Amino acid sequence: MTGKTIQKKVYLLLKEEYPVVYWRQTLFQNMARPRALFIFWLACHCRLATKDRLHKFGLTVDVHCCFCHRVETINHLFFGCDELKVIWQRVLRWLQIDHIPKEWNDELRWITRLSKGKGWRAQLLKSAAAETIYYLWNYRNDVCFGNRVHNTKIEEEIINTIVYRGWRSPKLREHIAQLLI
Ligand SMILES: [Zn+2]
Repeated sequence: MTGKTIQKKVYLLLKEEYPVVYWRQTLFQNMARPRALFIFWLACHCRLATKDRLHKFGLTVDVHCCFCHRVETINHLFFGCDELKVIWQRVLRWLQIDHIPKEWNDELRWITRLSKGKGWRAQLLKSAAAETIYYLWNYRNDVCFGNRVHNTKIEEEIINTIVYRGWRSPKLREHIAQLLI
């Protein structure tokens, strides 16, 4: 085998192992916190331990959503479930984006499409998406395990985190300041 053939084989193997995913743009230069990016990345891969998946793995769990008694799938949680949908909608409204969230598969495509720009809103949107998924997943865990009952201003926590992370960028600072007025 020539060097070139080997190179090609390795390339094809890697490509199979790590297929190019359409949503990779959403993670590129995303200023969300690493732990938020990790949860977001799991959500993009549909690898969060939602109840339908645990059930598929043979674990006897109650498959119902802890907010509304529909079956908990990733598509239901983000954002078929009204409880979590309104929180994401409020974060988007803060970004001056008027949008009715759809279920995760469609929503991730929408987020990806809007993340492609180089402008400040695209920058803020993708970090908002990652932080929102992180906060909502924690909120869901708290409610499922009986640690929290009420939705206590989660969107404020999400927005504060985005402001805090974005403020370090001189380019974003003036836009964030405008959004805060
Ligand atoms: Zn629900």
